[in-house]
Amino acid sequence: MACELKTRNEMDKQYLWRLEDIFPTEAAYEQAYAQAEKAIESMAAWQGRVKENPRQAIMDADALALQLDHLAAYALMRKDEDGSDPERQGRAMRFQTLGAKAGSAVSFLDPELLALPEDTLRAMMNDPAFADYSERLRLLLLQKPHTLPAEQEKLLAQAEIVMDVPSDVFSMFSDVDLPLPEVTDENGQKVRLTHGNYSTLLFSRNRDVRREAFQGMMGTFKAFSSTMAACYAGAVKAAVFKARARRYDSARQASLAPLEIPETVYDNLLAEVEAALPALTAYLNVRKKLLGVDELHMYDLYVPMIADFDMKMTYEEACDLVCEGLAPLGEEYIARLREGFAGGWVDVYENKAKRSGAYSWGCYGVHPFVLLNHTDDLDGALTIAHEMGHSMHTWYSNANQPFAKAEYSLFVAEVASTCNEVLLMRHLMKKYQDDPKASAYLRNQLLEAFRTTVFRQTMFAAFEKEAHGLYERGEALTADALNSLYYGLNEKYYGGGVQVDEVIACEWMRIPHFYRNFYVYQYATGFSAAVAIADRILREAEPAVRDYKKFLSAGCSVPPIEALRYAGVDMEKPDAVRGAMRVFAQIVEEMKSLI
Ligand SMILES: [Zn+2]
Repeated sequence: MACELKTRNEMDKQYLWRLEDIFPTEAAYEQAYAQAEKAIESMAAWQGRVKENPRQAIMDADALALQLDHLAAYALMRKDEDGSDPERQGRAMRFQTLGAKAGSAVSFLDPELLALPEDTLRAMMNDPAFADYSERLRLLLLQKPHTLPAEQEKLLAQAEIVMDVPSDVFSMFSDVDLPLPEVTDENGQKVRLTHGNYSTLLFSRNRDVRREAFQGMMGTFKAFSSTMAACYAGAVKAAVFKARARRYDSARQASLAPLEIPETVYDNLLAEVEAALPALTAYLNVRKKLLGVDELHMYDLYVPMIADFDMKMTYEEACDLVCEGLAPLGEEYIARLREGFAGGWVDVYENKAKRSGAYSWGCYGVHPFVLLNHTDDLDGALTIAHEMGHSMHTWYSNANQPFAKAEYSLFVAEVASTCNEVLLMRHLMKKYQDDPKASAYLRNQLLEAFRTTVFRQTMFAAFEKEAHGLYERGEALTADALNSLYYGLNEKYYGGGVQVDEVIACEWMRIPHFYRNFYVYQYATGFSAAVAIADRILREAEPAVRDYKKFLSAGCSVPPIEALRYAGVDMEKPDAVRGAMRVFAQIVEEMKSLI
């Protein structure tokens, strides 16, 4: 008999997040919605008049953005609870329309500000009484060559809602409509394959179980290859259209330049990681030996190499372990973390039509939220450490910065999360140092973190670079083109140690992050920075923790590269990635000697 998921209403309340902390009732949400509609109208009335009082216009736009921040958090997270519920769908869609209206209502602001004399803008930027907006104005001046006349900006803002369609189609298809098959689990029971149990099944020591899950997932997507290619091509076309409209050389440049990330950071990453592929092959050979298989397949990559050492734990035990592992960050950090666990931040378990995966969502002036699809193992604990890392970063930035300077850049977004993961792993390696089996098991986990966060995400980054490049060079993004690109990359990265299964060519279709173009490389750069920071915290304790909290508290009050320098890392040099690759190679060697 198939084991079907619980519906949202059947879930135990103590494991649900408290979106009521944003709006206690539906009526409160509706009231805020109506206020935002009014604020949008008053914002629109600034059109053509910004020069009369640019400061007030900026402050009004900021206040509207804060209102939308709360509405978005509530409406979109409610939908993520159950994507099949028409009421939740309706609220989210209605909010998206409001968001687009707001985007359109403020679209004239930047062009009108840019039309002011540069001296006026610089004077505002340098005025201590207007310091909350100094970074906003500095970034605005950087955008000058890429900002369009007011009418065109308005048109672009209205087109945003259309350009979001590929991403909406993807999540509806993947989370709700995807007809995943029943597969056999470790106990010989038939279970419905879901995004949530897919990773558990791939972790199975029973090779038939993980092969069937892999074939089931990839095979299902494969049946929709043309649809998925058209959907993803839509996202690529939108990115290229926006880049060209704004006179950037490429979609990648359009993504990186506004964050003040030089493209060399991206290319250095590809170069440094690809130079370290022999170490990945060495790791895969250790894996092949430990699993005792003739040929390693793509579905053999996730299963722990050390048999009979399961680290099963409940959600509560996982939370305790995370607090233990993050103890080097000091008592204050841990106390806040505990407040988060107890304070309705986290939505723990999977339910029917809940959004897959895990994320952290900041809500300024309320508290951060974490969506999990928790599994009772070490991976589940690492996910908690990871997402709470995001949430704590949000908490520190929100507590120390005004709204206009609170939201940290995407480039540093994965640093706090992975720093937590690395600290937790280092803690466990120490705790179990006299136990050879546990030592090998934990090294396996850390090697996997490197493989999935640095190697895998860098491979994704290469895919994105090439997919956008294909389209920019005028080639069609057909299913065949995308599949063969993705397959070729898998051969390049894994071919030295793995029999690269044909159906892996379809894996790109299930990666939600491809709908946030040029996002994933930051996992790899972030991981490398995190390895460096965690190292320093363990070595130096107090001064390193103090510097790290300065980084966490910085929000976007300084450029991201500068914020990382607060914590002692310089990403403009290849050192951090190269250093991380050295650590990886060293753990592979340790692993060899342990077996
Ligand atoms: Zn993350």
